[in-house]
Amino acid sequence: MPHRIRVTIENKVLYVFVLGLLLLILSGLLALYEVHGLLASESRRMQLHHAQLTTEQLLSALQDAETGQRGYLLTGLPSYLQPYYEARLHLRGIDQEMHAALRSEPRYAAELADVDRLTRLKLAELEATVARRSQGGLNAALPEVLSGNGKVVMDRIRADLDSIQSGLQAQISAIKLSQGQRMTRAWTSLLALSLLLAIVQGVVYALVVRELREKRRLKGRLREHLGLDALTGLPTGAFLIEWIRYSLAQARRDGSHVALLRINLDEFRSVNARLGEAEGDRALIEAASRLLTTARSSDVVVRLQGDEFAVLMPGLQAAEESAVCAQRLIDAFSLPLLPSLQEQHIGASIGIALFPQDGVTPADLLAAAGQAQKSAKAAGKNRHQFATPQVELSATRLQTLHNDLHRALESHEFYLVYQPEISLASGRVTAVEALLRWRHPQLGEISPDEFIPLAERSGLILPIGAWVLRQACAQTMRWRREHGHSLRLSVNVATGQLEGGEFVALVREVLAQTALPAGDLDLEIVERLLLKEDAADALGGLKGLGVRLVIDDFGTGYSSLGYLRRFSVDTLKIDRSFISGLPESRGDAAMARSILAMAAELDISVVAEGVETEAQASFLREAGCSLAQGYLFARPLAVADVPAFLEMRASAP
Ligand code: C2E
Ligand code: MG
Ligand code: MG
Repeated sequence: MPHRIRVTIENKVLYVFVLGLLLLILSGLLALYEVHGLLASESRRMQLHHAQLTTEQLLSALQDAETGQRGYLLTGLPSYLQPYYEARLHLRGIDQEMHAALRSEPRYAAELADVDRLTRLKLAELEATVARRSQGGLNAALPEVLSGNGKVVMDRIRADLDSIQSGLQAQISAIKLSQGQRMTRAWTSLLALSLLLAIVQGVVYALVVRELREKRRLKGRLREHLGLDALTGLPTGAFLIEWIRYSLAQARRDGSHVALLRINLDEFRSVNARLGEAEGDRALIEAASRLLTTARSSDVVVRLQGDEFAVLMPGLQAAEESAVCAQRLIDAFSLPLLPSLQEQHIGASIGIALFPQDGVTPADLLAAAGQAQKSAKAAGKNRHQFATPQVELSATRLQTLHNDLHRALESHEFYLVYQPEISLASGRVTAVEALLRWRHPQLGEISPDEFIPLAERSGLILPIGAWVLRQACAQTMRWRREHGHSLRLSVNVATGQLEGGEFVALVREVLAQTALPAGDLDLEIVERLLLKEDAADALGGLKGLGVRLVIDDFGTGYSSLGYLRRFSVDTLKIDRSFISGLPESRGDAAMARSILAMAAELDISVVAEGVETEAQASFLREAGCSLAQGYLFARPLAVADVPAFLEMRASAP
């Protein structure tokens, strides 16, 4: 469709252009023809003018000749006829010239020939009179002169010349007149030409503008047809309802959270009022594009109406995550939307509604988000607000933690505690598990369950995880040297650490630096990591180094026996939730027994996590579990307390 529109526009413009060109050539030719005619008539006028001058010369020559005649009468000298001879010579020359000049006017040529003939006649007459005068004296010639014949001939010659002259004059005037007309015609055609060009230009402009308008209109119609907003190309509200419905069904299935953000631009009305609607439209298009590029790829961005947008965020692990995204959206408006909006900052106020806390239908969520958005405006604009105040609080805390996590490592706010792992048979310590702690300067101790997911999302887990590994390996080696204990070490590894591809090299380097034997390092990973294809290389690499793989929180995720074999998993840690019900809960008991049986078959060792009571410990001991961890034996210990615990357990029976 857009292709066809372009072709039509181009063709129309081309036709008009060709037409304009033809008209241009035509009127150019006309002007050229007129100017050419003008030059031709000018040269003819010059010729006629020249001819007129020569007849004037002739007349004055005749004048001289008549004066000569009078001289002859007085003196009788033939030399007085000289002017006549000259006049005749002159006439011959002029006659030829005039024939050339008056080729288109043979009338005058004939008349001039007459003048020539008459002059010759007169000359002969005068010669005869001169001869008579020289033979018979003045008296013999006198009758001839007195008869007036000469005078009549002279008058005729003069009259002929006069008529030629006035004929030429009339001709010249006629030419001048026609020149004036031609001149006007040339100007007129040039004027017509420029007028025509102006019209053609106007028509082209009108055509192009019309087509472009039509194109924009069609694009808008097309977008509307597809359920898209005509201006921004974003989906519309109708579309959103369907998406919310779909996301809610998904969330019900997998227990994830959904957030609906309603976004209203601050002070937008004044943009339209101050800069006009066209500029307002441009600002909205830019706002839409910023929302689109800032939102996550799995989010749905729609334009509800006017300056109101919505972002649907499905598949959230924690509802508070939406606050981080909302803040990013607000930050996306920190730079001016348009150059013309340098002076006036257009921010965004966002209301956030969550499924299931704030509503379980699209309509409820939209209403709750709308309400929250109004409170965000009322609270001072350019901010986000949750529909439920409690979420607001925990989101604020999360945001603070997220921000502060960046400097926690440099400001030495992290430290490690170590929880011993006990042999159920001997009661001795076989290993310690390094557990990370964050002492926040204002908020105090923060649980790793709260900040590890934040660190994972921001990528900070890489430097933090590396720090934990170095610290724990070095500390364990110190204990081993000081207490002659073959203590093993267990370190938790987050999923994100294994995805980068640099983890294997890090472990190799730390082991080499600290001299901890690879076989004495347990790396704890969660079950779902086994299913991630991009972690397979890293897991293979770690096994290659000789370190041992431990599945943490076993039983809470999805695992397949095939994967336990594929990656040669060494140890399973039965999750605390299956231990707490022991020994009373039949389900938990069955679970623990089957894990132990399966592990024995696969030659995998098992650690029971979270053992808090003696009853749990004896159940596990009887069921064949050899290792355990839990408050019954020890809480996670500070570095300084570990040696004493090791000593105490070493001497334990
Ligand atoms: P986890 O690896 O399963 O660690 C065991 C958690 O259970 C620890 O919580 C520990 O204090 C707690 N625990 C141990 N015995 C008992 C018991 O008898 N009763 C009860 N109720 N709890 C017990 P903690 O230290 O809060 O750590 C929580 C989780 O944070 C850890 O679970 C681990 O997944 C993660 N984590 C801790 N340190 C690190 C770390 O350095 N890196 C990574 N990636 N994750 C860590
Ligand atoms: Mg662990
Ligand atoms: Mg665990």
